[in-house]
Amino acid sequence: MTGETVIKNGTVVTESGSFQGSVYIKDEKIKAIGDHESFSSPGTIIDAEGKLVMPGMVDPHVHLDDVFTMDSYESGSSAAALGGITTFIDFAWQGWVDETTPWGSAEEAPSLTQAVARKKSKASEVLVDYGLHASVTREDIRVFEELRDILADGITSIKMLTINGVGISNGFMDSVFRFLADKGAVAMVHTEDPSVCGHLTEKFQREGKTDFVWFPESRPDYTEAMAADDAVQMAIESGCKYYGVHTTSKKAADVLVSSQLKHGKELVRAETCTHYMKFTEEIYEDEEKAPLGKIIPPLRTDADAESLLEYVMTGTLDVVSTDHGSYSRADKTKSENWWDVAPGSPSLQYSLPVFHDLAVNSGRMSYSELVQVMAYNPAQLFGLPEKGSLEPGTDADIVIFDPDKEFVVNSKNNAAAADYSLYEGQKLTGAVDKTFVRGELVADNGHIVAEPGHGHFLERELPDWDF
Ligand SMILES: [Zn+2]
Repeated sequence: MTGETVIKNGTVVTESGSFQGSVYIKDEKIKAIGDHESFSSPGTIIDAEGKLVMPGMVDPHVHLDDVFTMDSYESGSSAAALGGITTFIDFAWQGWVDETTPWGSAEEAPSLTQAVARKKSKASEVLVDYGLHASVTREDIRVFEELRDILADGITSIKMLTINGVGISNGFMDSVFRFLADKGAVAMVHTEDPSVCGHLTEKFQREGKTDFVWFPESRPDYTEAMAADDAVQMAIESGCKYYGVHTTSKKAADVLVSSQLKHGKELVRAETCTHYMKFTEEIYEDEEKAPLGKIIPPLRTDADAESLLEYVMTGTLDVVSTDHGSYSRADKTKSENWWDVAPGSPSLQYSLPVFHDLAVNSGRMSYSELVQVMAYNPAQLFGLPEKGSLEPGTDADIVIFDPDKEFVVNSKNNAAAADYSLYEGQKLTGAVDKTFVRGELVADNGHIVAEPGHGHFLERELPDWDF
């Protein structure tokens, strides 16, 4: 029980507009928004003068506590809380066998059901609320039996990849789309053509092209578009909701957009990530940053970054996520060969201020539009109507954001396990002041002030994409 709190004098920002006013919190929920004077006498009053009062951000693409990311649920969710993210959706992976995993055979590897159970048990470590996507990584038809129960358990989105040792063939993916369409669930797909990327990678390895500038060349933009085209066509044919994961290039975005125009937003949605709009492949020419910038799919050109931002601004790309994954600098720099370096980048703590600086401070997006792509849309798309909104009756997940506060990103302040940041040294205007999860203050002025275990596992609904 958190009692009553009024956050007054702020600029209240919702997905549909902003106004000078107050937010009234009672018993974990938003009780009212509007004029402070009309609220009954509350317990705590917080003055948010000069600050924005927004719904807590919802990041639907986060990797914690897995074979390929160092964060525990506590470190990762602390980074989220400091970054104004009050809900994240992580992945439960059906175990697979390759050089990166500890399992000797498919029989030893965890089933999807076991993976889900393990991640659900992490609630005692988590500061903010979280949900799970389930990732199908093997072509074993027994998984359909598991999926039935998993969907009923509030895990209403299933991820598949076309590549990376966990790639699923078009044939198997098609059967998953049909299954999910029948249930009204969401399919999310990481798309890169494995054949072209595989051949290019082998060629560069053969030719000794170890330098990081060859990394983006090994996974060119058209391979992302090709695989997206296949996947979205299959999804449309079966009537399955399709969510394009971490769109990085104009070519891939164009494929999804034209499908969206033809078939409607009820079936096709997509995200991009902060780093694909903020950085370009130039990073691979910088000896120090190149290994840290190894992200899959790779960072692209200036023109790609610009068109992604354009698509986000026009509401065509619906979501800005992080694809957060933590590594140590030592891990990222252990090899001179780009192909031996683990892919991924940590950004839960910085995504909101970075995107605010990029999109709002530049005058290209409004605060409401930021709330749409970082809070409201992801909550609605993934069946979390209680989240991402300041609507009375929804969860009191709130971020108070100081739009004028300047700071320089310093990885020494990372709450995540990673000891570096791709954003290191960036001077940003706009910082998270306070983060509330269901009415409780969890982060205050750069400090975690709640205990792990405050967060809940969220059972998600089957979503409606008719907005
Ligand atoms: Zn990812």
